[in-house]
Amino acid sequence: MKAAVVTTPGNISIESIPDPTPGSGEVVVEVAACGVCGTDLHIFDGEFAPRFPIVPGHEFAGVVVALGADVSFITEGDRVAVDPSLPCHACRYCRQGRSNLCDNWAAIGVTADGGAAQYAVAPQGNCVRIPEAARLEDFALVEPLACAISGMDALPRRPSEHYLIYGAGTMGVLIAGMARTSGAASVTVVEPRAERRLGVESLTGADLAVASSDEADRRDWDTVIDCTGVAAAIEDGLSRVAKGGTYLQFGVPHTGTRVEIDPHRVYQHEITIAGSMSVRNSFERAVDLLSHGALDPRRIITAEFALEEYRSALEAVRSGQGLKTQVIATGTPPRSID
Ligand SMILES: [Zn+2]
Ligand SMILES: [Zn+2]
Repeated sequence: MKAAVVTTPGNISIESIPDPTPGSGEVVVEVAACGVCGTDLHIFDGEFAPRFPIVPGHEFAGVVVALGADVSFITEGDRVAVDPSLPCHACRYCRQGRSNLCDNWAAIGVTADGGAAQYAVAPQGNCVRIPEAARLEDFALVEPLACAISGMDALPRRPSEHYLIYGAGTMGVLIAGMARTSGAASVTVVEPRAERRLGVESLTGADLAVASSDEADRRDWDTVIDCTGVAAAIEDGLSRVAKGGTYLQFGVPHTGTRVEIDPHRVYQHEITIAGSMSVRNSFERAVDLLSHGALDPRRIITAEFALEEYRSALEAVRSGQGLKTQVIATGTPPRSID
């Protein structure tokens, strides 16, 4: 099969590699579409993957085409979205139901070969069936949406809060949309790039999209969520949390990023600082949300590349073009939707 292979940090090539064979309890999925995100950039840059070569791709959906031994819940022809999480189920965190914090953390497309290929292997328990009528490619959005749901789970949500969200990339847009439908009094999005600010209000229901929090009419917000991982945004965000409010680190900063906080204010104003990493018990709910039309995937997926163009897809993500970029392995030519 054809696959995008990161051979060493900074090097990726399209290679012909053996078709995957499913082990016990595993299935082979013919990939319909695979999303590309910042995590793939971290892998390409050599920050995440503990081994090379690796086939990236942790956001994908497709059709089950082969079954391993002892597969009873999934059949050939099932259309599925694949949860990339590969928790050990044995460590203290897995046993506490916090498998995203697994001591032996592993994931399809991060530590094991992923969906940037014609076929990918997954445990049957990672496959969630999607509706018959649904467009398969849209359900490659389930993984980032499941991360956004996990992020919202990390908040002590009360009705009628004021939200400030940094970043109008894919994750910022998903989080802003979810805040809006979760009973927010107001949602403000900070995005310095003018082309990204455009249309954020109509896409997410946000009240306001501004280049800097200084431009907003409020000075502080009950819930502040960083979806950028950028130190300047994080520092600004931490300084904008209202008394009794919550700051959520949802964007992925580079390892070793340092920011200044005012611990006296954290104390005096009883501010909560929370984090949210990856997917936790949210994959099914993301399938449900998408299945019931809670968001329009065609407005989120803004570019499709052929698998052969994986490197260009990575560069498109790095440059911050559009929202979700996908690669399609079936040989369709690159198509720009926006
Ligand atoms: Zn991702
Ligand atoms: Zn574990």
